[in-house]
Amino acid sequence: MTPLLQAAPLMPALEAGLAGHYQVTRLQDQADPAAFLAREGARFEACVTTAAIGLPPGLLAALPALRVISSFGVGTDRLPLAEARARAIPVGHTPDVLNECVADHAFALLLDVARGLSAADRFVRRGAWAQGPAPLGRRVHGARLGVVGMGRIGQAIARRAAGFDMPVRYHTRRARPDLPWAHEPDLHALAHWADFLVLITPGGPATHHLVDAAVLDALGPQGYLVNVARGSVVDEDALVAALQQGRIAGAGLDVFAQEPAVPAALLTLDRVVLSPHIASATHQTRSAMAQHVLDNLAHFRACGQVLSPAPD
Ligand code: NDP
Repeated sequence: MTPLLQAAPLMPALEAGLAGHYQVTRLQDQADPAAFLAREGARFEACVTTAAIGLPPGLLAALPALRVISSFGVGTDRLPLAEARARAIPVGHTPDVLNECVADHAFALLLDVARGLSAADRFVRRGAWAQGPAPLGRRVHGARLGVVGMGRIGQAIARRAAGFDMPVRYHTRRARPDLPWAHEPDLHALAHWADFLVLITPGGPATHHLVDAAVLDALGPQGYLVNVARGSVVDEDALVAALQQGRIAGAGLDVFAQEPAVPAALLTLDRVVLSPHIASATHQTRSAMAQHVLDNLAHFRACGQVLSPAPD
């Protein structure tokens, strides 16, 4: 069986699927991963990782016989794509199968932060109801939804807005005339227009701190930010300051700059809803993603290419 390096913890069903075709070695089981790679890296022909963990710089160099990478997740910001391309190593990821669950989660965060659901749950549990009513929330239906990133997942988010009678506009670098929503080439203008600004771009250098203090100020004291993209897309210090100073109304955040660390200042704010990077985390979607990882590898075994190549 082909030797495969598992570079990140994986769900048991995926590990079981890999074991059927590969001789799997888990990097996390090695007492000294660097020494292990120096000693044994040359024997691995396949590698599996996750979008959240990716492959650290230098790992590919320790795998000179590597022929294929299969990643669990759609994001590619932690994958060494340029290095893999230079060595003609196909890299697979798992787009599409997670679109609907990530969009559901974006809407869950939006509804929660607007209506104060998590805060209301805490309110009831600590017995505060007996002392008086909970604070009022913000109406969602009919509110203006700005979507930053209108790819596979952005479109699924925009489709959900129809059920809430929300007008939608979006910002991307290139307009999509084939889509029914209005393109806004200026992110500040979109933030100024929107009641809710949802981020669903890739991470990486092209989107680093795309949302900074100026965009947050354009969103304004009545505006809410929802981030299901990557923590790097937002200037987190600027976001914390804007929330503390009431320069935006609230935020629903699934992703953070230094996961799993979350800025301490956010933990005490009721106008913030926090989730631990779980937008795709349902049994159904994670199973489909696991199958896609296996399918990418099977396709490579059959024809030398992965089914869903990660874009450059
Ligand atoms: P797609 O590639 O289908 O869409 C990406 C969109 O982002 C495109 O509309 C693209 O348009 C836009 N975009 C890219 N760069 C910029 C930029 N610099 N400024 C403005 N818009 C930009 O990706 P998916 O919809 O499949 O996934 C998007 C991202 O969602 C993933 O890369 C990942 O980071 C994140 N994600 C998060 C999850 C979570 O658990 N929270 C789960 C799954 C995904 P254009 O190129 O025209 O600018």
